[in-house]
Amino acid sequence: MPYTTTHVLVAIIAIELFREYFFKNNKKFPRYYILIAAIAGVFPDIEYLIRMSYHERFFLHSLFVPLIFALLGLFALRLKINSKYLGKKHMNLSFVLFIFAAGSLIHLGLDAIFVETLMPFYPISEYAIGFELVSKIKSNYQELVLPIVDALLLFFWIMWMQFKLKIDDYF
Ligand SMILES: [Zn+2]
Repeated sequence: MPYTTTHVLVAIIAIELFREYFFKNNKKFPRYYILIAAIAGVFPDIEYLIRMSYHERFFLHSLFVPLIFALLGLFALRLKINSKYLGKKHMNLSFVLFIFAAGSLIHLGLDAIFVETLMPFYPISEYAIGFELVSKIKSNYQELVLPIVDALLLFFWIMWMQFKLKIDDYF
């Protein structure tokens, strides 16, 4: 499976690009959202802690997880539900739930693209998909794929922070 760092990097880059192109105004977009995206991006792998196996992927790796988060987000949005704690930090509960929906969806996509087969409709169906891209590469190079992907993502993130965000504003 892709490394945890890959999941985190893709999630934070995705939310950062989202902020850049849809929010523009930095002040209205608390940096806590980036942290939440990082957590959301690894969230489905929590089930490994419970099952103690890297080869089993069940409910948390199904499409129901992003769907449930998205529905809860819509629910919170419609009923204007927010928690005091989040409100104090200028955050919004529905947006946090949407980040979890997007983060877990991206996670499933990455798992499927790189090595794993997923059961997107588990437990309703055990139908499995997965492109297993790594296995299609010459075996000598296979173990290089994931570190190279990570290196490129990290490089992009560092350049982004340096030149686009001006790192001083960031912390
Ligand atoms: Zn996973």
